[in-house]
Formats: sequence, C-alpha cells, structure tokens
Amino acid sequence: MQTDTHDVVIVGLGPAAYSAALYSARFMLKTLVVGENMGGQLAEAGEVDDYPGLIGVQAQQMIEAFNEHVKKYSVPIVLDRVESIKKEDGEFLLNTQGGSEFRARAVILAVGVERRRLNVPGELEFLGKGVSYCSVCDAPLFKGKRVVVIGGGDSALEGAEILSRYASKVYLVHRRNEFRAQPIYVESVKKKTNVEFVLNSVVKKIEGEKTVNGVVVEERERNAQRKLEVQGVFIEIGFEPPKEFAKKVGVETDPNGYIKVDEWMRTSVKGVFAAGDCTSVWLGFRQVVTAAAQGAVAAHSAFKYVIENKKSLSA
Ligand code: NAD
Repeated sequence: MQTDTHDVVIVGLGPAAYSAALYSARFMLKTLVVGENMGGQLAEAGEVDDYPGLIGVQAQQMIEAFNEHVKKYSVPIVLDRVESIKKEDGEFLLNTQGGSEFRARAVILAVGVERRRLNVPGELEFLGKGVSYCSVCDAPLFKGKRVVVIGGGDSALEGAEILSRYASKVYLVHRRNEFRAQPIYVESVKKKTNVEFVLNSVVKKIEGEKTVNGVVVEERERNAQRKLEVQGVFIEIGFEPPKEFAKKVGVETDPNGYIKVDEWMRTSVKGVFAAGDCTSVWLGFRQVVTAAAQGAVAAHSAFKYVIENKKSLSA
C-alpha cells in the first residue's frame, strides 16, 4: 500500500514518540506514528509518580492520555514494526513488517531499548505486581517493605542505594563476587545497615500469589537454595540497544550500540532524528520525562529541517 508523503514519520510508540508526535503536529507538520507496541516500556509499568502534574497515575492511564493528546491533533497511529528505511529521491521510504510503505520528508526514531530479562519463572507473571525493571521509578512504592535488587552494575547499585531509603530491607543479589559498578557506589551501599549482599548467587524463581512474596536464590558454588521473603523484585541487569535496527537504517551508533545524536537530536543521516532511550544521550538517567523532552527537541529539529528543505526545493 502506498501513501502520500508525510512531513514526518515517527518510529516507535513510547513516551519519546508520543511527545515527538504532539510537537510535530503542533508545528503543523503532516505527521504519522508507526509503532509496534502502544506505550513502549510504560506498558509494563504499574503506578507512575514521577511525571510532573500526573500524581500517582497508573501507567495504562498515562498511555491513554498520551493517545488522547495526539488524537486531539489528528495524528494517525499505525500499529506495525518498521523494518527498513531507505532514501529515495530526497525522501525516506519506510517499509513495515505488515507490508505497508510510507514516505516521509523527515524521520524520528524513537524505538527505545529492550530491557534484559532474567528469564525465570514468575518474572512476567508478577510484572507490575511486585516485579519492576526500574528502581528509580518505583522505589517510593515500596516504603517499609522488603525488596531484592538483582544485578551488579551501576543501575543495580544505584537502585539498592535508593531503595535502602524506602524499604525496610534490601537484598542485593549478584551472580559474581565482584561488581562491574563503580567502586564508590559499592562502598556507599555496603555502609547501609538495611542492605544485605547475596553474592555468587542466581535467582531461580519469583514466587507469590496475587503479588510477589519471595524470591528463590541459589548460591552457585554450593548449589544451596534459600527463599528471600520480599514484596518487591527489582531487575537491573541492563538493556539491549537497537543496534541491529540502527545498522539496517544506516545511522551511526556509539560503541555500546545506541543511536548517535547531537544536542539537536540529529543522527548521522540528514533528515533522520532520534529521541528517547535509543539515543546515545546518557546522563546516567533515563526517564519518561527525559524521553519526552528529547521527543520535543527532535520534533522541533525535524520542523526546521522540513521547512528549510522545502525552501531549497522550491528555490
Ligand atoms: P520505549 O522503549 O518506551 O518505547 C519504544 C517503542 O518503540 C516501543 O513501543 C517499541 O515497541 C517501539 N519500537 C521499537 N522498534 C520499533 C520498530 N522497528 N518499528 C516500530 N516500533 C518500534 O522508549 P522511549 O519512548 O524512548 O522511553 C521510555 C522511557 O520511559 C524510558 O526512559 C524509561 O526509563 C521510562 N519509563 C519509566 C517508567 C516509570 O515508572 N517512571 C516506566 C516505564 C518506562
């Protein structure tokens, strides 16, 4: 199916994409969003209480509000996966898994990241019911409760640090004896009296009834299992950046596989912008509010690009 050329096609359907769509429409650009999963990572979250003005909102309600907001500006949303983007006669040609073809003067990539899973029983069953992938986002929901953080990098240690301020007890489970995290973080967490390190240990399963009530861990050398009685499980074992997608699309990535952008959210390909978790912008902090901010900047840059390009074509 062939459609008219859009000014901007936004790829993705998380906070960065919604924000880019809203701003792009407000710049009066003919805008289309193509994303495979409504809400992105938010679709797996429970309560969100760190987005200004939305107090204790359920993530699902937030996604509905994002949808309503872009609907108000009549931005069409296509639920599909973009497989390739090619430049043809000064325009971009996007092909999707579902067999559609879209044309655009500019493209904004807001494809996010995949959170790494533990792949243990109970992980998906209790997602949003005690299992979380974001300590910074969800720590305040576990005030006075017992939690476990899994991982050994900066995110896990930062998670344990924040959670120790809310939870009554924090277990830090790591599969090795040494940490990849910066030593200063490790030392700081070691000083917390309510944090217990469970090292050289792996999680075997997450248990519960309606919500989580424990985690079974195994000490690797002795194969000895024990159950940690917790109400919260924070899986902080990293992300998979969209390395392969970036390669296919032809945009440069940083050494870790994130899409390289400048402060205008421009990628290495003229007319292609990126926003949100998929970008190389890393200030140690990735949130809905930072993704949305990048989406707004990308839309503004795309707006400038589209009008300048139209001018040069008509000159
Ligand atoms: P995202 O990962 O949320 O969204 C990316 C979207 O792009 C997904 O819908 C995905 O399915 C889609 N996608 C990926 N490849 C695609 C392709 N080829 N074609 C079409 N669609 C494709 O990413 P984001 O919007 O950059 O930002 C999410 C932010 O939200 C993160 O910073 C995260 O930390 C934050 N977050 C916060 C909370 C909280 O509780 N505060 C909860 C969840 C997420």
